[in-house]
Amino acid sequence: MVKGNVSLQKKLDSACNSILDQVGRGHVADYIPALARIDIKKFGASILTIEGEKASYGDAQESFSIQSISKVFSLTLVLSKIGDELWKRVNHEPSGNSFNSIVQLEMEKGIPRNPFINAGALVLCDILLNGRSTEACLSSILDLFHKVANDETIQIDEEVASSELKTAHRNLSLANFMKSCKNIHHTVQEVLDVYCHQCSIAMNCEQMSRSLLFLSKEGLDPLTNNRIITQEMARRINSIMMLCGHYDASGDFAYRVGLPGKSGVGGGIVVVVPEVGVITVWSPGLNKNGNSLAGSAALEAIARTLNWNIL
Ligand code: GLN
Repeated sequence: MVKGNVSLQKKLDSACNSILDQVGRGHVADYIPALARIDIKKFGASILTIEGEKASYGDAQESFSIQSISKVFSLTLVLSKIGDELWKRVNHEPSGNSFNSIVQLEMEKGIPRNPFINAGALVLCDILLNGRSTEACLSSILDLFHKVANDETIQIDEEVASSELKTAHRNLSLANFMKSCKNIHHTVQEVLDVYCHQCSIAMNCEQMSRSLLFLSKEGLDPLTNNRIITQEMARRINSIMMLCGHYDASGDFAYRVGLPGKSGVGGGIVVVVPEVGVITVWSPGLNKNGNSLAGSAALEAIARTLNWNIL
């Protein structure tokens, strides 16, 4: 049961109102043509607690392209399937480089620094394919979304997916390079197909908060009591979000917000507050690291106003 909470709502309103001058700043992710058209002035925020208390602000019910936030879900699936075997093919260190950097991958012989940079996420897709068709793989990814969000309406935005596939030159080169290092086992095209479709899943802030609630309760969905992933795996996912969730700005994000989170170039950011709940923000204007500019400012203000911090 999801309930409204007046004091939570008031605090969310006041935190969001305090950063409205940041909304509309930055640039949209125009390297993906379908995302270039998104209105930069959009701003939404949602909080959902483990008790089912809920607060929303602005465009919290408008769908956005989740982009790299999808990597948290593919990591969840891969860890439940193959566990620590994953770390033979991907590391869990911060990259200190941009999300689509090529240079580090070459120096480190095709082993991506972590599962949240593009190269790492491409390896996750390769593992998830596991000899299946791209359709079967994508349907298992969508099944996870439907299960954790308790919502069957979540879908892939096909227009964004085809726009991404047409312009995925950089991701193609990352995948080809890893293929040459034998760290991609399926065809590069199959891997790209899964990756671009998974990034193109559309959700709103409220759906996103609901989806990752299991990470605030050590892998157990607190509203249904369904175990999504083991306690140990949930802790690991949160640790990787803390250290690697925002690419080369992960340190700055941890310093400012102090909570494990994941951003995407669609302008969404989700953070997990252990034993408390989840906060999602969305605003499409990005900073130079590809993280939502107003979204980061909002999370800093919300975490401070609510005094939610893991430290
Ligand atoms: N689909 C995007 C890309 O591959 C995801 C990047 C992101 O959200 N940081 O470039």
